[in-house]
Amino acid sequence: MPRKFADGEVVRGRWPGSSLYYEVEIMSHDSSSQLYTVKYKDGTELELKENDIKPLTSFRQRKSGSSSSSPARRRGSRSRSRSRSPGRPPRSSRRSVSASHQADLKETRKDILEVKLTPLKSFGNSISRSNGEPERVERVERNDIPHKSLQEKFHLSQESSYVSTQYSLRPRREEIKFKEIESKEEEVVKKGPASSRTFDVTATQTRDLEFGGVPGACLLMLGLPAFLILLLLMCEQKDPSLLNFPSLPAWHNLWETRVFGAYLLWFFFQALLYLLPIGKVVEGTPLIDGRRLKYRINGFYAFILTSVVVGAAFFWGVKLGDVYDHFLQLALGAIVFAGVLSVYLYARSLKAPRNELSPASSGKAVYDFFIGRELNPRIGAFDLKYFCELRPGLIGWVLINVVMLLAEMKLQKRAAPSLAMILVNSFQFLYVVDALWFEEAVLTTMDIIHDGFGFMLAFGDLVWVPFIYSFQAFYLVSHPNEVSWPVASVIVALKLCGYVIFRCANSQKNAFRKNPKDPRLAHLKTIHTSTGKDLLVSGWWGFVRHPNYLGDLIMALAWSLPCGFNHILPYFYVIYFTMLLIHREARDEHHCKKKYGVAWEKYCQRVPYRILPYVY
Ligand code: NDP
Repeated sequence: MPRKFADGEVVRGRWPGSSLYYEVEIMSHDSSSQLYTVKYKDGTELELKENDIKPLTSFRQRKSGSSSSSPARRRGSRSRSRSRSPGRPPRSSRRSVSASHQADLKETRKDILEVKLTPLKSFGNSISRSNGEPERVERVERNDIPHKSLQEKFHLSQESSYVSTQYSLRPRREEIKFKEIESKEEEVVKKGPASSRTFDVTATQTRDLEFGGVPGACLLMLGLPAFLILLLLMCEQKDPSLLNFPSLPAWHNLWETRVFGAYLLWFFFQALLYLLPIGKVVEGTPLIDGRRLKYRINGFYAFILTSVVVGAAFFWGVKLGDVYDHFLQLALGAIVFAGVLSVYLYARSLKAPRNELSPASSGKAVYDFFIGRELNPRIGAFDLKYFCELRPGLIGWVLINVVMLLAEMKLQKRAAPSLAMILVNSFQFLYVVDALWFEEAVLTTMDIIHDGFGFMLAFGDLVWVPFIYSFQAFYLVSHPNEVSWPVASVIVALKLCGYVIFRCANSQKNAFRKNPKDPRLAHLKTIHTSTGKDLLVSGWWGFVRHPNYLGDLIMALAWSLPCGFNHILPYFYVIYFTMLLIHREARDEHHCKKKYGVAWEKYCQRVPYRILPYVY
């Protein structure tokens, strides 16, 4: 949509929460969010929607000079509006706190009886309101925090530093409704050393820790690696029933340094591909300080190059199928690597500036080691979390599946892989290629935006995904299952059905988030929220609240069906994945409730089912 106002143009901008317009200068325009950054006469900068800006000519000139003055200056003369301007004189005049400023503060406190400025947990730059009026984004100077008690909560150190904080201008009557949510969300991090030159940001932390808090994190960190090895040992047995408990293997069957070396080679080969200057560079979502990190999108190229290298190795006689004999050792090597990486990540996070910590971190060492303390750990431009999300584990998963296919042919003395193995391989190949093709979408996931990089993601990305998600192929190597063509057709139809739901739902939301005014989405109904982002309430996202999870689960079932019904083990993935997505949905719901408040509640009323219509 073409912009209406040019940079430098002097116009009138509506003050948040009021019907008053003040003279402002257009500073810039963000074409993606369609917001204008405007500057009031007192130096306050806000982001406004086009609807909240009017040309000077649309106002009759008032005699009083106040018509063009800043909201802060008008404060003394105007009658009290529902919303209080947080505007303040420019910093230079603030350095000596004047009597008039004290009076301002007094009046501001009075107005807080009607409208309370509340810092929200979620990071961003917006003044968000839940009263349905247009949202706006403000860059707030630290010393601009109008409420003294609020000011005390924040640590005001670096005069020159800016912090972007999200506020909610909330009418009093809505306070009670939000009280419960708010009581959980705020906790101000203690100020760092005075000498720190970094932002002294008020990172908020949740008191209600996820995953069962510290005990849950301990249990998962110790239990998951052991459980993975147990599953692999079980699956290797001739009778892989749950009652047939495997005996512990000898140490040399679990660990071989050469295999660990091969794992390291794989990891660093992928790292090298990540560094290749091919593929576009995009910006991630805004961080707490307003910065946007840059990411190179070249996962798909990395996949093609890997395929070429692996294909060449196979052609020159490298026996890929033999990796099957070292599968346990490879899994243990990956576990050790993920553990060492987690220790490194935690250690380096201790030196990370506060504004680079994950909103999920808690200040509790064990929990933070698990959930990840630093949000985007980087070595130079190398983003460790982003790299691990899609490269070594996901591409490794496809390679492991190919290994299993070759091992099946070797062990079962087949001239060609079984239909079951072909189905499993091609279904999962499609899944990985899809993820790499739409790599950019990972930048808006909870993993990137919310969770830090710690044991949870390191283990999940580098161990759990390649070694558990390839479980069906691993199972088929020693437990063949013949699938007839009609059955295969039904399974393929199920897979495609799941894929269509998964892909369409994800693409629809990504397109909407990228450009809410996308003409292809014009037919969809939306709910306006106070944060500037709207919510889709029709189309896929009006069907259930997480249609993408539904599609993913249908696909997961289609991956397991080729393994037949002799054992429950190949269905472990569907069972685990259902639990994971139910839990993930609850986490996301919790975050969205905090982010969108009443609008989210409205959405839940309009779309009552979470994942499966009429069931859940
Ligand atoms: P989603 O893609 O489901 O994103 C959730 C976010 O979408 C919300 O936080 C909200 O963020 C936005 N949103 C929610 N409802 C609406 C709506 N009605 N309109 C517009 N935006 C909305 O999150 P995930 O990261 O969990 O999943 C991404 C994909 O990855 C899914 O397909 C999932 O199945 C898959 N996945 C696969 C896993 C695996 O191991 N195979 C593991 C986890 C996920 P905001 O409003 O801030 O944009």
